[in-house]
Amino acid sequence: MNAYDDKRGVHAAAASQARRDMDLRDWLIRLHASDRLATAKPGMPLRFGVAGLANRLDGSKALVAPSPEGAEGGTVISGLLSRREWMAEALGIAPEDLLSEFQAAVAKPLPWCEVPRGRCQDVTYEGDAVDLTRLLPIPTHNEHDSGPYITAGLMICRDPRTGIQNVSIHRLQVSGPRELGALLLPRHTLSYFAAAEEAGEDLEVAVVVGASPACLLASQAIVPIHVDELEIAGALGGAPLDVVRCIGKNIFVPAQSEIIIEGRLLANTMRPEGPFGEFPQYYGPRADRHVIEIDAVTTRRQPLFHTIVGGGLEHLILGGIPREATILNTMQGMFPSVTNVHLAPGGTYRYHLYVQLAPRQPGEAKNVIMAAFAAHYDIKHVVVVNKDVDIYNAEMVEWAVATRFQADRDLVVIGGTQGSKLDPSTDEGYGAKMGLDATVPLDAPEFSFKRISVPGEADIDLDAVLDDSVPEWDVCDD
Ligand code: MN
Repeated sequence: MNAYDDKRGVHAAAASQARRDMDLRDWLIRLHASDRLATAKPGMPLRFGVAGLANRLDGSKALVAPSPEGAEGGTVISGLLSRREWMAEALGIAPEDLLSEFQAAVAKPLPWCEVPRGRCQDVTYEGDAVDLTRLLPIPTHNEHDSGPYITAGLMICRDPRTGIQNVSIHRLQVSGPRELGALLLPRHTLSYFAAAEEAGEDLEVAVVVGASPACLLASQAIVPIHVDELEIAGALGGAPLDVVRCIGKNIFVPAQSEIIIEGRLLANTMRPEGPFGEFPQYYGPRADRHVIEIDAVTTRRQPLFHTIVGGGLEHLILGGIPREATILNTMQGMFPSVTNVHLAPGGTYRYHLYVQLAPRQPGEAKNVIMAAFAAHYDIKHVVVVNKDVDIYNAEMVEWAVATRFQADRDLVVIGGTQGSKLDPSTDEGYGAKMGLDATVPLDAPEFSFKRISVPGEADIDLDAVLDDSVPEWDVCDD
């Protein structure tokens, strides 16, 4: 079956349905209206200033930085999706449904819908007008980064063999006015590129900056190579995604995006890229990497330039949520008694997995630990807890380890395994795994592991019962 031909049929029936998710600007308006958006004074330096401020606000407020110093106008935005509840809200779903809704979207993607025009093409730059260093306010983030980077760009390209599009985020170094350096890990984009290169051709790409929350999250889905992540974005939003064709490339991009950079991944060309501050809070090294030559830029009027600060919560959460959804799906397939999983922030949303389990068999937690090691090679340390432990609260998980774990009985260590190459304590990714069974033994008397609680505590309405006038004992005359 040729999925590409299939989709063309859907394009012909172009009819927009209502989406339940928000586009980027709607989400910014929502953040502003609820006091979760901070606006910087004009002139925040593009070099470190914008990233520093975004980091200070990380997880509490999103940032808008208009007319930054070092740019010819423009506005940078950052930290829009730095809490998982915010992501759920932007998608129009309840926070507790985030993983199940993502799983449902991955299981049943919705083909996109081509529309004749999109705001992302309101303004066009071609030929000599294409100069990234002048057109866009692109920040430099961490101290030893090699320079400005585009970090929130969805790279969209088309498989030369099947015509299916792929969407992924790559760090993109601004190497010159019309040149980007790209880190391509051995995944789908690199496979498409290798096919083009073998035929002696460049690979056309579009880099989308200022995409909707659904598109950003869908881009990180862990799915087979024949799945177009824009179709997952459609399903996440509950209606087919509107796309437009690039002005000079046979690539379809989300119509309501802020900025589209059209170019080509050059065949047989590698140039230095890096270093760059990455998610484990360390720098990825400088090395020869792939090169994109830019042919055109299209934007909305007064576009917003979204930047994701390397290692910040927005960076971690975007990758973490789709991983959790995939890991939960994999593990529940083997162990229906697994009720939830969470990639903990302290493990940079990649290396530490907390598993919530309703164990039914002695030893089950240890089997679950081994399944977690196999679910994704990045997972390094696993803690399994009972359902009475909140896995989104690291202190609660630590309490379970403190009071329900005995190292001589409940510890699993496996050496000589595959891990993350970005974990500097490994030997190029070769390292050890550790699992902690912090569940209550099945035969333990119930009362001995019952957590203390005060009846009604959670239901007290503090505004109703507290008196904020000056307390009588504070009227002192010393
Ligand atoms: Mn893919």
